[in-house]
Amino acid sequence: MDNEQLVRTVEAMKKYAVEKHVPIMEDDGIEHLTALLREQHPQKVLEIGSAIGFSALKMAEALPDATIDTIERDQERFAKAVGFIQGSGFKERIRLYHGDALEFDLELLDRSYDAIFIDAAKGQYERFFEKYEVLLNKGGVIYCDNMHMHGMSAMHIKEIPRRKRTMIRNLSAFKETMINHEGYETKLLDIGDGIMICKKL
Ligand code: SAH
Ligand code: MG
Repeated sequence: MDNEQLVRTVEAMKKYAVEKHVPIMEDDGIEHLTALLREQHPQKVLEIGSAIGFSALKMAEALPDATIDTIERDQERFAKAVGFIQGSGFKERIRLYHGDALEFDLELLDRSYDAIFIDAAKGQYERFFEKYEVLLNKGGVIYCDNMHMHGMSAMHIKEIPRRKRTMIRNLSAFKETMINHEGYETKLLDIGDGIMICKKL
């Protein structure tokens, strides 16, 4: 029964994402991410950028003991996420928060996450990291999606549309920050659209 609800919800989410151009993770990326999470088996996960709740639901499915807290700033997507999760059979383990993660009151969240998944505005990853890493336990892991920026990270700056350049520069700078960060062990995986894994030492 649970499984039927889950399958139905995932299908409805994918359909909605295509129709409304919501950039949810692709199958390849989400499969790899959930495989990495299963290996880590975190109890508490925080996600920045829920969109319609797709990756949150897939993470909850992959981690039967975990709770997922997730933040989305877009009102319409947030409302959609609430509806989908409500009917998914997983609502006890997924907490959806509406708000801008950069202005969000940390008091509303737990203090000790085992994993943080960053998948919101690409130009702001460093700011999300700076704000939220205090909530990550030692030994915890930060996962960042879209590090290849849909292939654009490998392009020469002049080939990149002007309006996207700041975002790409910020993302590259963040990558450098993490690679050089003494408090983290960082790996960049060439899967999906590029997933970066940063383990807190
Ligand atoms: N993780 C989702 C996809 C997220 S798409 C999945 O794979 O299913 C990125 C989302 O981040 C968008 O819906 C966007 O509205 C949201 N977002 C961008 N900046 C944000 C911010 N500062 N705070 C909260 N959400 C943000
Ligand atoms: Mg993404």
